[in-house]
Amino acid sequence: MRFLPVAMGPHPILERANYNGVWLAHESFRSIAMFRSALILALLAAFAPQANSARADDPTLRTLTSKHLTLVTDLPPDAEVDTLPGYFDQAFPQWCAYFGVDPAQHADWHVRGFLMRSRERFEAAGLISKDVPEFATGYALEGNFWLFDQTSAYFRRNLMLHEGTHVFAMTVLGGTGPAWYGEGTAELLGTHRLDGDKLLLNVIPANRDDVPKWGRIEAVQGDFAKRKALTIEKLFNLSGTLHGTVEQYGWCWAAAAFFEHHPRYRDRFHALARQVNQADFQDRVVAAFAGDRQTLDEDWQLFIANLDYGFDFERMNVEHKSGSPLGAGPAQVPVAADRGWQSSGVAVEAGKKYTIRARGRYQVAGGERPWLSEPGGITIEYHAGQPLGMLLAAVRNDDDTASARFSGLIQPIAVGLDATLEPKESGTVYFRINDSAGRLADNSGAAEVEVSASP
Ligand SMILES: [Zn+2]
Repeated sequence: MRFLPVAMGPHPILERANYNGVWLAHESFRSIAMFRSALILALLAAFAPQANSARADDPTLRTLTSKHLTLVTDLPPDAEVDTLPGYFDQAFPQWCAYFGVDPAQHADWHVRGFLMRSRERFEAAGLISKDVPEFATGYALEGNFWLFDQTSAYFRRNLMLHEGTHVFAMTVLGGTGPAWYGEGTAELLGTHRLDGDKLLLNVIPANRDDVPKWGRIEAVQGDFAKRKALTIEKLFNLSGTLHGTVEQYGWCWAAAAFFEHHPRYRDRFHALARQVNQADFQDRVVAAFAGDRQTLDEDWQLFIANLDYGFDFERMNVEHKSGSPLGAGPAQVPVAADRGWQSSGVAVEAGKKYTIRARGRYQVAGGERPWLSEPGGITIEYHAGQPLGMLLAAVRNDDDTASARFSGLIQPIAVGLDATLEPKESGTVYFRINDSAGRLADNSGAAEVEVSASP
């Protein structure tokens, strides 16, 4: 089995995190204000030359202007670069909508951005203070951001929108929140799709090819496979780093995407966006989810264990339903092909043996020539180490405390057409059809599964 028990424990990379201006600034609300005012004074002095006059100093710098952004760059004319300010303008009303701000009240909001191939050139032109620390990709401070150029047009735009979210939070909202939230929402609102020229923020990318060099999903999948998954608790306590790794950004994106899109949590999470400038913001987050925190901790494990492009939050949402012991005969259980884990309603006991038999035909891929599968799966196409379409089982401990620590639903058992189940732990049997969490929408039909006590 490829599914490995995951140690939701300390993350060595994050634990030796060093500090970054942006993440450090997020760390504590009180320190951010002090840190910022010191730096702003230094920057005001450094910023005496206006962006436009930079051209006179260095004719190779170009200034691109839109309603909400003045972007100075040392990159040559290029359609992907020159359209950035227009996309920044399209992001503005979406940031306003996300954080519950009236755009009319901030109609004059304007940001200065610097897209750099060579930092030295911007320093020579007086467009970046020596006080701005060395940083890896992007840095935001009050009404300004600096970006290093990226090799992918998608990721360059993503980075601009990420730093733009920080600037919006700092200047319009008056705070970015703790590191996980500030970086998470910047990742969430930096991750976008273009429909023609129309920019759409806050999307779960459907395919890897749509988001070249983004890599957040692979980074989290990789950490999970290496048993370095982060718990929500660890994420809440994340501190910043100046040279954030793709894994760190990946975890922050994953946390924000989980809260933002999960049907159980999205309304509460979204309501918190309007409170980000409150000094006790993190306490408010904890309080908002205190009532069902165990369910949340388990849902988080399920999300991370199954994370994939196009992750389908609705179809992957698990309805917990404790089972009853088998009666005299076997239990008949339909298992829908287009959903994640489904309770069988059958309770099983550790140490006993059960027989599972399955039949039926169902669709596991749509399109012009849909793929049909039986519970044995399609052995020319694999997902997560098992044939696509194969029937999987798992035993979930009905004690929520235990499942919050370690859910049985992240340890699937391959069943196929038939299997003998010998549970190590008592609980309820759940079934699902093996497929990516991002490719359930084109499935249909169900397997018919029979569970009986073995003699
Ligand atoms: Zn950031």
